[in-house]
Amino acid sequence: MPLVTCADCKTEHSDEASACPKCGKPNTPASKKKTSPIAMVGAILFGLFIVLCLGFMKVNADANNEEEVRQINHEANKFADEQMNK
Ligand SMILES: [Zn+2]
Repeated sequence: MPLVTCADCKTEHSDEASACPKCGKPNTPASKKKTSPIAMVGAILFGLFIVLCLGFMKVNADANNEEEVRQINHEANKFADEQMNK
């Protein structure tokens, strides 16, 4: 189990203890609840960031493919024109 440091006397004790064994300062689970949503929001934002990055990369890849296809079609048309003009 993880240890927490008492804010008052800096004694390390289990985070599952309801109060600091040395000075008796209540080990407020509220402080734990305060940090976890922030961490969760951070994780969600990070996830969204990754998704956006992947989406952006996908859009770029699609654009590149389209450009490639256009170039191949252009070459094919040129080839066809050359064949017809022979
Ligand atoms: Zn303490």
